[in-house]
Amino acid sequence: MTSKRKRILSGMRPTGKLHIGHLVGALENWVTLQNEYDNYHLIADYHALTTNLDTSELYQNSIDMVIDWLAAGIDPVKSPIFRQSQIKEHTELHLIFSMLITTARLERNPTLKDQIRDLNMESVVYGHLGYPVLQSADILLYKGEVVPVGEDQVPHIEITREIARRFNLQWGIVFPEPEPKLTKFARLAGLDGNQKMSKSLGNTILLSDSPEEIQKKMRTAVTDTLKVRKNDPGRPDVCVVFSYHQKFNPTEIPDIRSGCESGVLGCVDCKKNCSAKIAETLAPFREKRAYYESKPDEVLGILSDGEMKAKKVAIETMSEVRTVMKIG
Ligand code: SF4
Repeated sequence: MTSKRKRILSGMRPTGKLHIGHLVGALENWVTLQNEYDNYHLIADYHALTTNLDTSELYQNSIDMVIDWLAAGIDPVKSPIFRQSQIKEHTELHLIFSMLITTARLERNPTLKDQIRDLNMESVVYGHLGYPVLQSADILLYKGEVVPVGEDQVPHIEITREIARRFNLQWGIVFPEPEPKLTKFARLAGLDGNQKMSKSLGNTILLSDSPEEIQKKMRTAVTDTLKVRKNDPGRPDVCVVFSYHQKFNPTEIPDIRSGCESGVLGCVDCKKNCSAKIAETLAPFREKRAYYESKPDEVLGILSDGEMKAKKVAIETMSEVRTVMKIG
């Protein structure tokens, strides 16, 4: 007897080519999960407007992201890939959901507080306040039961659960209350030592970078500032390069730690080794990426297929929503 697999909704904003932080923080997890769950992968192109109103590169960024996902191992047959903007039901459900949560509740959302701090008050628009409401529509339109997220996104899943509860109580049970599934590996620090690797901070190693580009970028990576010369003893636990070794070169960790702490190992050699290991890990990815880049029609076909599958589910859900709400 087969049991019904739970459904997962996961997505990213298309802000450019993906980096190793995306691989570690999300993609590896998604690839594993597609064997246990029914996954739906959302390209959150409307959400991207909260950080950039210039849409001239939005389409190409979306295509680049599809290629990155496929190269990382997302199987589009198991896991449909689709753009939020192409499934109009997202905006319709967002509108209904926006009646089910108070502005006071949304103002208490901790990620809004982060955005206000980063942006300044004048740049905060309604879309920032409503971000978790649109995200709730993204998840619940597909009746997502599980959402893979980092720790910082858990408050959004709580808002989604509250909206689902409120809807079900008001009109009848349509939606599940999704559970967050925490991503195992903590987020990867940027080359500059910033806790977050991000395109806007210019501190990334892209999944598509060549071995030479990786080595060049690695030269700029922040290490232990107290280790000035090769023979100075270092503190690997405060070094960004060491954190990359932990992920991409785990078997050499004891040797690197002792070499760094004793001063036998210098940062230049350590960085070269780290670059080589990252390049080696990304080699199959680059190869698959080159394949998909050379097959634009195949990529568009995969996207169109994913959008057809997503649309079918979205229409079904909205039909249930309208029926219980008695609006046609
Ligand atoms: S030797 Fe390696 S781990 Fe130690 S501080 Fe230098 S780069 Fe970091």
